[in-house]
Amino acid sequence: MQIETQYSFIDGEWHPGGETFDSINPSDTSDVIGRFSVASVDDCDSAVTAARSAFPEWSLSGLEQRKAILDAVGAELIGRSEEIGTLIAREEGKPLAEGIGEVARSGQFFQYFGAEVLRQMGEFAASVRAGVNIEVSREPLGVISIITPWNFPIAVAAWKIAPALAFGNCVVLKPAELVPASASMFADILARSGLPDGVFNMVHGPGNVVGQALVANPNVDAISFTGSVATGRHIARAAVENMTRVQLEMGSKNALIVLNDADIDVAINCAVNGAYFGTGQKCTASSRLIVEAGIHDEFVERMITATDALVVGHALEPGTQIGPVVDGQQLNKNLGYIQLAKEEGATVATGGDKLRLVTNGYYMRPALCVDTSNAMRINREEIFGPISSVIKVADFDEALSVSNDSDFGLTSGIITTSLSHATHFKRHTQSGCAMVNLPTAGTDYHVPFGGRKSSSYGPREQGQYAKEFYTTVKTTYLSA
Ligand code: ADP
Repeated sequence: MQIETQYSFIDGEWHPGGETFDSINPSDTSDVIGRFSVASVDDCDSAVTAARSAFPEWSLSGLEQRKAILDAVGAELIGRSEEIGTLIAREEGKPLAEGIGEVARSGQFFQYFGAEVLRQMGEFAASVRAGVNIEVSREPLGVISIITPWNFPIAVAAWKIAPALAFGNCVVLKPAELVPASASMFADILARSGLPDGVFNMVHGPGNVVGQALVANPNVDAISFTGSVATGRHIARAAVENMTRVQLEMGSKNALIVLNDADIDVAINCAVNGAYFGTGQKCTASSRLIVEAGIHDEFVERMITATDALVVGHALEPGTQIGPVVDGQQLNKNLGYIQLAKEEGATVATGGDKLRLVTNGYYMRPALCVDTSNAMRINREEIFGPISSVIKVADFDEALSVSNDSDFGLTSGIITTSLSHATHFKRHTQSGCAMVNLPTAGTDYHVPFGGRKSSSYGPREQGQYAKEFYTTVKTTYLSA
């Protein structure tokens, strides 16, 4: 069957590129989802130029026009969530219900920021000088490069693009190479939404060429990136060269603390959800389970049973709880970490091996490692797979100290019935998001999202905090 090549979207037109690459279904590698042409560096520069040209008009566009477009994009995403969610499940490998949920949630991001369009308030101040008044207002930045990962093909792009547009910026999106079909479907919605040509652009291709071109271009005013620490550091260094504003969401090694006084059912539900749902491919996944000695053995026993009961399967198969790993490279990386865990002296209590199913996909059984210490590499480096480790600790103080002993600090959680421990944890956990009796994964969209240490760099994303990144402040002094 002839596969039609899909293009990048530049200045209001679908634009052919050079060589092509295919998107493959990780649940069934015989299923080729689409073929995409790689944008050249010149194409990327054209996209930035188009965004720059569109900016003066869009930055001054009427608020109702902007709101109407954001609302319409949100409504289309919500209305087509099943269709687009099916494509995400096919392309990324998350179970269908999660794919549908991701699209519906992405629609809500647009509707939220549609409402924010009308809430752009400034401040008024009296001056220290008689007869002078001061206004503090916000203005859009200009051209934003948005570089996104594969694990939430539409949601991450949506929570960056919606505020960028709401505040009057123009956008060039560079989606991850593993999920170009989902990105193209999303781009098609934006292309038909009534945005003037050049306000939204999308370029397909590898990070080190296409992403790099968007990072190096001095006409880009800000870069919002979600991905690995190594790429994030590289982008930050390159951005400084051009004095470009950056916002980076990177790795994590999130801890879930389980205390002796925990409700064990809550602990198991939160640990299984946080560690394995989404195949552990979430930046908010619980990869370290820090368990107090008194509940440790029961927790491990129940975790093994719960982990073994998870249904691993084709993302579109009803009943599948855990889909495949996203590709062969990530699967090999995961299996390498299982081998490393054993070499480091951990016990793989269950899972951690490849699974052969009817279709040829990148399936792996979720793994629980026990007898681990926080010094082991499996507990220090981000794996991004369905692998979680139990670290046994003597008491709450040790639990908190082990939890904080990490290069990362995105989310952390505690399962306890003690108000005192929960309160102390909230204040002293060194992470951007803290969860009490909830999984480390799963956040709302109207409140800030981001982390500390090597997990994040720059202003927070989402909710009203998004304006810190997508606008610049102007202080105006007025004398009559
Ligand atoms: P992951 O390991 O999750 O794929 P990456 O950091 O490699 O994380 O990728 C996240 C996004 O960053 C992808 O869209 C990728 O293409 C892009 N990317 C990778 N390398 C670069 C780079 N040198 N410059 C800009 N973007 C890049």
